[in-house]
Amino acid sequence: MTGMRCGIGYDTHRLEAGRKLVLGGVEIPSPRGPVSYSDGDVLSHAIVDALLGAANLGDIGRHFPDSDPRWKGVSSRVFLEEVRQQLATRGLRIVNIDAVVVLDEPRLTPHIAAMSKNIATALGIEPAQVSVKAKTSEGTSPMLASAHAVALLASENS
Ligand code: MG
Repeated sequence: MTGMRCGIGYDTHRLEAGRKLVLGGVEIPSPRGPVSYSDGDVLSHAIVDALLGAANLGDIGRHFPDSDPRWKGVSSRVFLEEVRQQLATRGLRIVNIDAVVVLDEPRLTPHIAAMSKNIATALGIEPAQVSVKAKTSEGTSPMLASAHAVALLASENS
């Protein structure tokens, strides 16, 4: 694989009262959290898919199927670290990631820097390479947490 490669990722989970909300590996105080087989971290999941897409390695469901008990309740940090290895073995380096989380409440602004730092650490890159933004659905999807991400990779062989 040579040159620059971009990828896109998207994830969404339904929110339910009394569940833990984790975004970018950061636990955020919230009355609701995602219903999910893993930790339901939509931000990490969208980023994993963007990275896998850029490397043409399929998607998160192929690598971490919810039929596999190994992934039940697992931290999405494990997914990020696994993808980091997959990229490294192929000589692919992360140039940057840009992501948007869509959530009506709570407001995420106070947690953005921690999310960026966490994701960067799991991927072995700098926080400056991981942009995280937050928007609301303007009340159209109050029971969903969603995230969109793009990633750019560079081949070390080119
Ligand atoms: Mg997910």
